[in-house]
Amino acid sequence: MKKEIVIRTHKLTKSYGNTIALQNADITICKGEIYGLVGNNGAGKTTFLKMLAGEIVPTSGEFTLLGENTQKGYLKARKRMGAIIENPAFFPGMSAKQNLEYYRIQRGIPGKEVVEQTLECVGLTEAKNKKFKNMSLGMKQRLGLGLALMGEPELLVLDEPINGLDPSGIIEIRNLLLKLNQEKGVTMIISSHILAELSNIATQYGFLSKGKVVEQISAEELKEKSRDYLEIRVTDIEKYVSLLESKMECKNYKVMADGSIHILGKIDKLTEYSALAVNHEIGLLFFGMKEVNLENYYMEIIGETVEAEGDK
Ligand code: ATP
Repeated sequence: MKKEIVIRTHKLTKSYGNTIALQNADITICKGEIYGLVGNNGAGKTTFLKMLAGEIVPTSGEFTLLGENTQKGYLKARKRMGAIIENPAFFPGMSAKQNLEYYRIQRGIPGKEVVEQTLECVGLTEAKNKKFKNMSLGMKQRLGLGLALMGEPELLVLDEPINGLDPSGIIEIRNLLLKLNQEKGVTMIISSHILAELSNIATQYGFLSKGKVVEQISAEELKEKSRDYLEIRVTDIEKYVSLLESKMECKNYKVMADGSIHILGKIDKLTEYSALAVNHEIGLLFFGMKEVNLENYYMEIIGETVEAEGDK
């Protein structure tokens, strides 16, 4: 069955003066997916999400949001979408309940019961009368999520929703998001620079680096690519690599931007790799098996980008 597309961007670009915050981003997100938008500080994540939410206008390129691709259509689509981008403006002296009630009225969401239901959904029923300024960070984040959830959105756009939370707060938010996804089929795009947090929830990933989408990959594909590799650091990379090819007929290796050599695939002659350096008077600085997790996979693709740019 063909998947329903919720977001599709085509060459989406945003510049702030001379700074290109996002360049030619082509991203497709299908219904029911939890899309992890991964990137370091300044990679362009917030810029991307702000364009979807209508907070800023693209410099060029286009996008389709819940089937709409006109300015008028976007307004309609955004009623079916909830977003938290940067901290929502809550009134410090008002309670959780009062804050949500204020926004319910402002957004024209019918039914007073919506506020209580939302508080229940984000686990804030007991704290509903607590003033915003007296709430813990975790409670504040959950209230923000509640605000995005009012109106039962089909699509959630969350910019770093777990930033600054302690481990139990992270688990709470993660479970809540998983529940919304599994029980209500809510599609999500979640940005983070903390990869490990997304790896517990995302079904798809988009890696951003310096304003460019460097890779899009499903969680399944990522798992497949997660294999052990041998990392070697030597004093003479060129000589070692040339010996690798001539003496061991090894082609399954990569030289990373940081100068380390990764030997991929099945590694059964471990001692031969170290002997290759030692027997040819090459200093062995590091030698060990490593596991590709999300974090070093990301470093790997970013490393490759750095290399490719240097080649030009
Ligand atoms: P972070 O994780 O730090 O929030 P990010 O991936 O969300 O980073 P953006 O906030 O989208 O990145 O920023 C991308 C680039 O655009 C950065 O170089 C940033 O300095 C720049 N930028 C963002 N907003 C503006 C603005 N209003 N004016 C000028 N430059 C901006």
